[in-house]
Amino acid sequence: MKFVVIGAGVIGSTLHRLLKRAGHDVIVVEAGKRKVYPTLIHSLLLKGEDVWLARRTLELYDQLRVKTREFPAYTILRDKGELPHLWEEVGVKIEEKYIDWLSSEAIVTRGSDRLVWIGSFIKSTPVVKGEARLSVNGGKTRVTVEGVQLSADYVILAAGAWNSKLYPEVRSKSYFCWAVAAYGPRQLDSSFVYDYELGFYSRPLLGLGLPLGILGDGDVVECEPEERLRVDYRNLVREASKRLGKLTPLYVGWGHCEGSPDMRPAYGRLRDDLLYVGGLDGYGAEVGPAVAEMVVDLVLKGEEKAGYLVDRFDDVQDFRLGREPHELP
Ligand SMILES: Cc1cc2nc3c(=O)[nH]c(=O)nc-3n(C[C@H](O)[C@H](O)[C@H](O)COP(=O)(O)OP(=O)(O)OC[C@H]3O[C@@H](n4cnc5c(N)ncnc54)[C@H](O)[C@@H]3O)c2cc1C
Repeated sequence: MKFVVIGAGVIGSTLHRLLKRAGHDVIVVEAGKRKVYPTLIHSLLLKGEDVWLARRTLELYDQLRVKTREFPAYTILRDKGELPHLWEEVGVKIEEKYIDWLSSEAIVTRGSDRLVWIGSFIKSTPVVKGEARLSVNGGKTRVTVEGVQLSADYVILAAGAWNSKLYPEVRSKSYFCWAVAAYGPRQLDSSFVYDYELGFYSRPLLGLGLPLGILGDGDVVECEPEERLRVDYRNLVREASKRLGKLTPLYVGWGHCEGSPDMRPAYGRLRDDLLYVGGLDGYGAEVGPAVAEMVVDLVLKGEEKAGYLVDRFDDVQDFRLGREPHELP
């Protein structure tokens, strides 16, 4: 069969590999609207079903030879409930103890957190460059790129924050997402910290042993994908410094993410020959490949994973974005 995938993010890149591996023709169209960062976080420290999506994603990274590297993680969280038990189920090693350099009790986890070299994965995906446009003609979905029509049995919409621009029936919104690279203590580049008391996370920049890390707070601010917001990172750096010691901000990385009405991933049919996959809500590198695999299983095997199907939003008119789903209580 012939597939046209719109968007070469983590989803489009995974779809390309999985569909090719199953022996199909795949064209991925990429408009170059999004900055690609070399590394992103992959964590198993999530909630509910997401833990299993993240576990499956890790297996897919392994199969697709995407480089990942593990680091210890320190989670400062008072109301942890059943979470440590859930994480142990997927093979995470857990210890709770006082950590001198954080001056706090923390849940120390091993086997939970990795940097994933998503940049080289995405950049090695062969693409047709240009902005895809979607239309429906004679009951068939048409994709044109720079005036040239691409024929396909199936079109897969995987354009992240731009999905609802391309096909307004998609119930998702774009939001602004940013993080600050900072210079600070040497532990920055060799560990993950999730601090739910002070409201920040830090992660290694590249894990090369330099005292450099990335800080963020997981805030969601609705914003058109063409718009760039002014970022005030002073409060984030001030709060993170209370825990980590002196931090010097270096630059701000930013981009747009796609949020769905319930802030959960979604996939499914929009038309007989048009599929959608998205709503990755700031954790696409953590769960995206497993969600991409669900689309492939839907088209090739007719399998459906209830709970993730996009038709759960059929009755949604307008909505406000909530918290990113990987944020813990
Ligand atoms: C600063 C920042 C830090 C982040 N950190 C993390 C992290 O550490 N871990 C994590 O898991 N997630 C992180 N995220 C979120 C993660 O990047 C997203 O969840 C993920 O990129 C979504 O993947 P996607 O494939 O759905 O969409 P995208 O990666 O947005 O890809 C969609 C692609 O479609 C293209 N496109 C759009 N319109 C068209 C068109 N008309 N024609 C052709 N192509 C088109 C775009 O150019 C883009 O390349 C971060 C996001 C930001 C902004």
